[in-house]
Amino acid sequence: MSRYRIIRMNFNKPNRAVRGMRGLTLEQAQAHCARPDTRARGTCQRCQYAQTPKQRDSGETHCPTCGDLLFCSWFDGYDED
Ligand SMILES: [Zn+2]
Repeated sequence: MSRYRIIRMNFNKPNRAVRGMRGLTLEQAQAHCARPDTRARGTCQRCQYAQTPKQRDSGETHCPTCGDLLFCSWFDGYDED
């Protein structure tokens, strides 16, 4: 059975493995990445809207003003270990 590791995907610096997060099952890796606190707070590139941590944690992915997808400077993904 495949095992997975968590990778932090950074917009303007190299990606790196997240310490202590390897040998995971696919379900564990997906559950980690589904948590809102495994990504940066989003900002809107069109209207400069910036999320508060609470707004991020509510699962908001699009700008409430103009509806654009919010930009995140980093987020966690997974890769086969
Ligand atoms: Zn906007």
